[in-house]
Amino acid sequence: MKTDELREKYLDFFVGKGCLRRPSDVLVPKDDPTVLFTPAGMNQFKNQFLGIGPLDFTKATTCQKCLRTGDISNVGVTSYHHTFFEMLGNFSFGDYFKREAIHWAWEFLTDKKWLGLEPSRLTVTAYLDDDEAVGIWQNEIGLDSKQITREDEYENFWPAGSPTNGPDGVCGPCSEIYYTPPSGKKVEIWNLVFTQFNRVGDPPNNLRPLPKKNIDTGMGLERTAAVMQGFESNYEIDILRPLCDRGGEILGVKYDFASPVGRPLRRIADHVRACTFAIHEGCVPGPEKENYIIRLLLRRASMEGFLLGKREPFLSQLVPMIAEVMRKPYPELHQTIEAVSHVIESEEKQFLGVVERGLTKFRKLVDQARSANRTSLSGDEAFDLHQTDGFLIELTETLAAQEGVSVDMARFKECREEAKKASGRGAFADSVMSEGPIDALKKSGGTEFLGYEAIESKATIR
Ligand code: ATP
Ligand code: MG
Ligand code: MG
Ligand code: MG
Repeated sequence: MKTDELREKYLDFFVGKGCLRRPSDVLVPKDDPTVLFTPAGMNQFKNQFLGIGPLDFTKATTCQKCLRTGDISNVGVTSYHHTFFEMLGNFSFGDYFKREAIHWAWEFLTDKKWLGLEPSRLTVTAYLDDDEAVGIWQNEIGLDSKQITREDEYENFWPAGSPTNGPDGVCGPCSEIYYTPPSGKKVEIWNLVFTQFNRVGDPPNNLRPLPKKNIDTGMGLERTAAVMQGFESNYEIDILRPLCDRGGEILGVKYDFASPVGRPLRRIADHVRACTFAIHEGCVPGPEKENYIIRLLLRRASMEGFLLGKREPFLSQLVPMIAEVMRKPYPELHQTIEAVSHVIESEEKQFLGVVERGLTKFRKLVDQARSANRTSLSGDEAFDLHQTDGFLIELTETLAAQEGVSVDMARFKECREEAKKASGRGAFADSVMSEGPIDALKKSGGTEFLGYEAIESKATIR
């Protein structure tokens, strides 16, 4: 089943259940100061969940363009995380609740008319004390008790955090559906959130029941497409594999999942896809907030190419292929191919200039180390390159290894910590690049992990 077909099937199924098909919201939400990018399908419906304003419909279904900066460090590493991905959702605003949400998800996944997945390959989780959901899965759907596990608030309360201590906003216990392929590891494909609370402030008593009980579900399009197409990696599906192949073609290497070029090519494909959608919307690379994230993604992608030997800008050559594989659902991408390519190319040129200058300094440091009979670059030197010259630490590490020289990473990390303490945003920006905002936020100023809404919080990034 083609990804385009799966997207339509899902929406048709829920239209058949009385949901109104609504368009995806934009990637950079206009009126939501709490997130940089839209991280899930529910975001455009926050007011409906809170019972604010007119309610023109009580059931909806969407295919939402999402971008999760919290997953940057997973990209290329797991086979099923992207920064940009599409989330298929169905929503109830005080209309249907748990029973229908579970029954309909199961029907869509297993009925031969729809996806026809083998029921024994599906397992589910439920929140610790959610006997109602467990009861529905067990007694009404007929799942074996071995197929159901109960998980704590970190897994089964959404957004992740805990019921008493998580990001403010609508939330609730959830039940997730996993698929286990014939050979391989199980992967989460669908989250059913029973949105019952508005979380406000600190515990205790910060979970306020919403005026009505709601449903918010999110199914990963790429993950489910991989299941339907019999692949264990999302990057093999019909809308992603061509991007990996195209990247390989441009760089003169052959894409293969397990080869050493696999991970870099997946990163390039993912990051350029995310940036193409964002820039199409007018979110161009820049020094702050969402613009900064786009800059980071482009630089990381460019760096992967550099490390594979590419010395000229190349990322923009992927844009036409992205518009092509996304033609059916997003024909509008074709209208901006040239403009988007231009933005990407100038950003990449600028970055390569930075790399070029850094390289001169890097070579000098290596020579100095050698003449002093040292086999490693000091952490301070590596940090200076990273911080002052914008020469990413990943570059230093990889190029140093090629020269047979190591880098004192322990000291590098110390330097970074010191810089973080000394300055707010710069340090955050720095570690977004190397580790992803989750780690950055966890480490900076003792901020605890509050779930991805908090990670993407504009307030936090400032
Ligand atoms: P995971 O635990 O795998 O990171 P999640 O629990 O963070 O996923 P949810 O917030 O529950 O994901 O989002 C709903 C669905 O969206 C997931 O079940 C998954 O199918 C999909 N999804 C989430 N994050 C990503 C991602 N980074 N790339 C692709 N699909 C994703
Ligand atoms: Mg996640
Ligand atoms: Mg999960
Ligand atoms: Mg989940």
